Amino acid sequence: MSPETAATAAYIVAALLTVMSLAGLSKHETARAGVAYGIAGMAVALVATVALAAGSLTAGGIALLAAAMVVGGVVGLWRARVVEMTGMPELIALLHSFVGLAAVLVGWNGYLEVEAVGVAQTTVPPELLGIHSVEVGVGVFIGAVTFTGSIVAYGKLSGRMKSRPLTLPGKNALNLAALVAFVALTAAFTITPSLGLMIGITAVALALGWHLVASIGGGDMPVVVSMLNSYSGWAAAASGFLLDNTLLIVTGALVGSSGAYLSYVMCQAMNRSFLSVIAGGFGVESGTSASGTEDGEHREVNADEVAEMLTEASSVVIVPGYGMAVAQAQYPVADLTRRLADRGIEVRFGIHPVAGRLPGHMNVLLAEAKVPYDVVLEMDEINDDLAATSVVLVIGANDTVNPAAMDDPGSPIAGMPVLRVWEAKNVVVFKRSMAVGYAGVQNPLFFKENTSMIFGDAKARVEDILKAL
Ligand code: NDP
Repeated sequence: MSPETAATAAYIVAALLTVMSLAGLSKHETARAGVAYGIAGMAVALVATVALAAGSLTAGGIALLAAAMVVGGVVGLWRARVVEMTGMPELIALLHSFVGLAAVLVGWNGYLEVEAVGVAQTTVPPELLGIHSVEVGVGVFIGAVTFTGSIVAYGKLSGRMKSRPLTLPGKNALNLAALVAFVALTAAFTITPSLGLMIGITAVALALGWHLVASIGGGDMPVVVSMLNSYSGWAAAASGFLLDNTLLIVTGALVGSSGAYLSYVMCQAMNRSFLSVIAGGFGVESGTSASGTEDGEHREVNADEVAEMLTEASSVVIVPGYGMAVAQAQYPVADLTRRLADRGIEVRFGIHPVAGRLPGHMNVLLAEAKVPYDVVLEMDEINDDLAATSVVLVIGANDTVNPAAMDDPGSPIAGMPVLRVWEAKNVVVFKRSMAVGYAGVQNPLFFKENTSMIFGDAKARVEDILKAL
């Protein structure tokens, strides 16, 4: 068997493993197996690609390749080991930016190779030079949009940039102009490839990626992260066309289409327009209030009072959010669940689709603390039961329980479905201060008559309640 045939066979195996990985990742119970398939697929692909490339490389080239793999592998392993669960979205955004950057470099390489040695000396058939140029333009464009878009997403998620949307005057016209400029530049590049046009395409795409994500508000970031995941897949597929690598095309398209579908599902769950989000907040008025001004009196309670409220309750719903993850409060929360259940009190969880900082964040934490799956309900499954609930404990959640999403059409989170916790008899909110949540909007829930605030680190406060019980 020739090395090319062996590599193609390995690529088919790797592609199948990628499909199995995506299928496994779609359910909690099979997610671990999904990750294992993904790792196996990447390993097969890497070995086949390196073995194939090594045949045509000099010793120096092989050494460079090995050094790049060792450095990349060590940095990747180290970052993945030390990252906190709450830091995952920004790490993912950063990794997407690498895929984007790689696609830009592959595109530039495709152009420079032809420039340096002339088309006759490359693997590009001269009659297909036009198609090659389109591939270069499109690959660089998708890669550059993914690159800067992911950097901005990283900045917003890690708090290095404000999560408030950037609203430049005529922002939609700017985006449209960038798209038109890209098409015009790529058309010109296809007719006569030149360094100036390459720089133009790259610059327009870098600026567009930056602007698209900067224009999205904090509340819509989950969809953006998933969109960038999709873009990184398309960027990889574009590189696959340039490198004539079927595996990159297949896996890139799988990641691209599954990411796009996930974004679509998330948009539906959050009552957002898919087109508006991919078009950088198209249709979102620039005058929407950023922080909300509603204020009022809030009532503070201590752990003993909450314990008393719980002992008198017949049903309790716990609504966790990002703060539970920050405090790592899931273990005492799981203890509290068992303790209350032992006393005959019905305890269930209400999970908002974007609670925390990545889809499924709360489910993972609760599963880690061995909370049984059957008491963990999705928002739509529990919302109608909240009015008949004695006590709702909101543990480190804020935007996902904000009534302004329903009552204030000017709010940046207007229209996003929320858990209607205020309908319960009593609501206790666990947080450290009166500060706003991720979307940066005030929460009128805190000032309602049936709401009490318990301040401090969520883990410490839940432990205090356990003691008081
Ligand atoms: P929020 O970010 O709205 O609120 C978290 C709350 O937790 C804050 O009010 C904070 O208040 C409190 N908190 C933080 N640390 C602690 C602690 N140690 N102990 C007690 N409380 C704490 O979280 P939600 O989960 O309600 O909403 C998620 C938000 O994140 C949404 O806006 C969503 O769009 C966005 N998002 C979601 C992603 C996803 O994929 N799920 C990805 C990116 C963004 P205080 O500081 O006063 O303690």
